[in-house]
Amino acid sequence: MIKYKLICKECNNIFDSWFSNSKEYEKLKNKKYLNCHICGSQKIEKTLMAPNVLNSSDIKSKDVNKIKEIKSKLREFKKFIKDNFKYVGDNFAHEARSIHYDPKKKKKAIYGKVSREEIQDLKQEGIKIEEFPWIDDKEN
Ligand SMILES: [Zn+2]
Repeated sequence: MIKYKLICKECNNIFDSWFSNSKEYEKLKNKKYLNCHICGSQKIEKTLMAPNVLNSSDIKSKDVNKIKEIKSKLREFKKFIKDNFKYVGDNFAHEARSIHYDPKKKKKAIYGKVSREEIQDLKQEGIKIEEFPWIDDKEN
């Protein structure tokens, strides 16, 4: 014998019911022999989780929206950089230094790829540098 805690989806009444096995529960449910003794509804489900835990999907969708929001901000920022900065690719550290150390060279904004060690070096040399994650356009 198995004891299930059942819940009525209509009136949220929770009650215990005994079954000879789990198959009997399915059989009775499919034949609509299970019903709520308060409102008579046949929308009966097994309660496997506490009702408040069932809302965890809501929290997840909020997180997803938050991530989407951050990604769209990054995408806007990326567009701003592309429109206003000169792309130097892998030469970033070299270009940044030549701008920094050559007084004749016009100050200009550049962007490109740079390793974590190079970032530390450039910062120690007093070169102004900002890091931010470069997101792939293909990503949602
Ligand atoms: Zn009910």
